[in-house]
Amino acid sequence: MHWLGKSDQIRGGCADLADLSIPGVDPVYMKLLTGRRLIIVALVAVLPMMAGYFSAYGRLSSPEIVSAAVPLEPAVVKPLGEDIKSKGHAPLSPKEYVMIGGKRFEVRPPWLGHRIKGESDPQNLNFAMLPVELVLEKRQIYVTIATRDAFVVMAAAAALEGIKLLVDSGYRSAAYQRQIYQRKMGQGDDFYDIARGVAPPGYSEHMLGTTLDLVPSKWTFSGTLADKWLRENGGEFAFIQSYPQKSDLGFTWEPWHWKYVGDS
Ligand SMILES: [Zn+2]
Repeated sequence: MHWLGKSDQIRGGCADLADLSIPGVDPVYMKLLTGRRLIIVALVAVLPMMAGYFSAYGRLSSPEIVSAAVPLEPAVVKPLGEDIKSKGHAPLSPKEYVMIGGKRFEVRPPWLGHRIKGESDPQNLNFAMLPVELVLEKRQIYVTIATRDAFVVMAAAAALEGIKLLVDSGYRSAAYQRQIYQRKMGQGDDFYDIARGVAPPGYSEHMLGTTLDLVPSKWTFSGTLADKWLRENGGEFAFIQSYPQKSDLGFTWEPWHWKYVGDS
């Protein structure tokens, strides 16, 4: 018979001692107990149990313990991990790569972050061939129609002052730019050495069809009459030096490289 089953009798003070048992108390001693003693013994036995129950209950629901045990992870440990993660990656530019001859190369400044978005399609109707008399060796060079029209007008204006503007390069595809790298690397040149002077495939403004290299497309262009005339008048025809002598972006100066910006 269980103790709690006789609780009414105990409270009433008329328990049947023979049938009673108290956990932890030998039944032999139970018979020695009077009703009053039984109540005292019962209280002595029950109170610690109740105390244990409430302290256990209290332990589970104690706000100090709960707040110390549960939020500790989300408040301290997890955000700390997120902080480390964000500090480790957020301020850095995402890495960019180009493939040359099946090998992957990481793109470094100044090209990093300046991948040309949307290569112009030379097959589309926006492209036109420059008049061959304005091109070195009368080659076929294509640019956008707007670029061709603007350059023809500008070249005519320069010609009126006795200045000959001759084009060496216009639209170049990313594939063509890759061939330049493959050829140079085939000769033993280092990718990063080449990248100092040549845009990696995907990073050349020549992909846009709005950019022209003038003759001579090298350092000796600087100081020529064409160079001087363009720096004074190019802006009027919406042509700019996009790799100027003092580039905030760190691009190497290309005095022969002119970009039409009339459409943008
Ligand atoms: Zn160029």
